[in-house]
Amino acid sequence: ASVGHLLNATVKTKIETHPCYSKQAHQYARLHLPVAPACNIQCNYCNRKFDCSNESRPGVVSKLLDVPQAIKRFTSVKSKLANLSVVGIAGPGDALANPDATFQTLKEIKRISPETQLCISTNGLALEEHVDTLKNLGVEHLTITINCIDPEIGAQIYPWVFYHHKRLRGIQASEVLISRQLAGLKAASKAGMLVKINTVLMPGINDEHIETLAKSLKANGALLHNIMPLIAEKEHGTFFGINEHPAPTDNDIQQAQSVSSVHMAQMTHCKQCRADAVGLLDDDQSKLFQQPDRYRIA
Ligand code: SF4
Ligand code: SF4
Repeated sequence: ASVGHLLNATVKTKIETHPCYSKQAHQYARLHLPVAPACNIQCNYCNRKFDCSNESRPGVVSKLLDVPQAIKRFTSVKSKLANLSVVGIAGPGDALANPDATFQTLKEIKRISPETQLCISTNGLALEEHVDTLKNLGVEHLTITINCIDPEIGAQIYPWVFYHHKRLRGIQASEVLISRQLAGLKAASKAGMLVKINTVLMPGINDEHIETLAKSLKANGALLHNIMPLIAEKEHGTFFGINEHPAPTDNDIQQAQSVSSVHMAQMTHCKQCRADAVGLLDDDQSKLFQQPDRYRIA
């Protein structure tokens, strides 16, 4: 289903100029600024020694930027790409596990360029407490990665969650994460943000759970569902070795999208882009703007 007919005119314009929210907006470019290295949870499919954003394209290393470097990259990209409409912070860790760098960067961009749309991507653990700040900064597009609403399933995906100075494990970790994600989703949509949910489809883990998940996401205010395939490569995690949990097929993804589409509009053109992506969704230009240095958080 397309989202267009469900929305009022202002929301429609915001969606129609954001290449990730609307397939028709493919002529608009986005820029991801990699200022957020830390993460407050661990997903079994992620290995943060590599560049792993919430937009879930792990395995590609890139250079982390501090705030002044990020602003410099923004000005340089903006001067070269006239069609740049969105600046997002999508890792390589979690945007809201690095609130200072994330907020300073967004604030400065809005100051230099008020017309630029701001976007962040998060696992949602720390979202509810930051909704007001995000709103005040002018963030209107928000992506939350939510893979399940059942803690038993969550326990197979998240080995730990770091919340309020405590490292939680097992079912308890997932209970806290899921309740924080749904509270964050509710608060953000109530505040008027356009919330897209990313779900990593993991055969044998959450593939039978999509209907329950989509229903609950919709009930809590999500606008768009982006179901993405698990990238099953050994180096991305100790748990999801390629032999234990193969990546879903195209058919698996289409089936999950069709189950979810009963409840929510689907994003079907996701490119699983990097935390430092630049340009059109179909033509990433990040190489043009990167320094050759590599980083590791080990
Ligand atoms: Fe925003 Fe995600 Fe699109 Fe980046 S890829 S601009 S974070 S929706
Ligand atoms: Fe990796 Fe993102 Fe999960 Fe954090 S939330 S562990 S960065 S996939």
